[in-house]
Amino acid sequence: MRPIAGGVCCVCGERLLSPFSFTGEHAALQCALCRRLQPPYAKATAYGSYEGGLRELIHLLKYEQVLSAAGVLGRMLAEAFADLEPGFGAAQVLAVPVPLYRRKLRQRGFNQSEVIARAAFKHGVARHRVTLDATILERRRETQSQTGLTRHQRRENIRGAFAVVEPHKVAGREIVLVDDVFTTGTTVSECARILRRAGASKVFVATVARTLKADANRAEPEFGEEARMTMAAAG
Ligand SMILES: [Zn+2]
Repeated sequence: MRPIAGGVCCVCGERLLSPFSFTGEHAALQCALCRRLQPPYAKATAYGSYEGGLRELIHLLKYEQVLSAAGVLGRMLAEAFADLEPGFGAAQVLAVPVPLYRRKLRQRGFNQSEVIARAAFKHGVARHRVTLDATILERRRETQSQTGLTRHQRRENIRGAFAVVEPHKVAGREIVLVDDVFTTGTTVSECARILRRAGASKVFVATVARTLKADANRAEPEFGEEARMTMAAAG
C-alpha cells in the first residue's frame, strides 16, 4: 500500500502514460480527457491505486463492516488532503462526503465516505482549516449500472441522482468532496457540478483510492464501484 508514484494528471489524478510525464516537469501536465472536457472540480487526489491490500481494506470496511479499517484509511485520506491543501484559499474549507442513497445507508449502517472523513481528522486534517459537513448533499436515487456506457451516457445516467440540500452553506465556499474510491469520476463530477451550480467557488476531490490506467486489467475501470453497488442493491 504505497502512494501513487510517477506522473499523474494534475487535475484528475489519472496516471500519465506519455513519456513526458517522467521528465520531472509533469507537475502541471493534464491528461487528454481533462484537456478536452475540463472537469467541474479543480483537482482530484487519491492516496493510492485501487488494488491489492488497499482494495481489500476498503472492502473490509464497506462489505464486512469492519469499522476498525477506517483508521488506516483515514490516515491515507489525510495525506490526500495534505496534497490538496496548497490550493485552498484563506477561508475555512468544507469537507463533504459523497452521500449514499437512504436504502443503502440503512443496509450498510454507515456511509463509508463519512466514516473515513471523520477518521482523517484524527490523522492530520486540520480542524482550523477544514470543517466536515455531511448534510450538504443528498442522494435522491440509486444509480443504474454504468457498465458498458460511454462517458456521455454515464453522465446522463447519474444526472439528478444528487441534490444540494443546503445551498446557503455552499455559496462562495471551497469544498472538498470525499469518497472512498475514484473509479470513472462520474459520481464526483456530478456532485462537483451541482455544488458549483449552487455557488461553491471551487471544488476539490479527495479519495483514498483511484483506479489507474495501467491497472486496467485488474481494476475493472468500467465495471466499477457504482455498477457493483447497484447490483448489490438489486440483489
Ligand atoms: Zn486528467
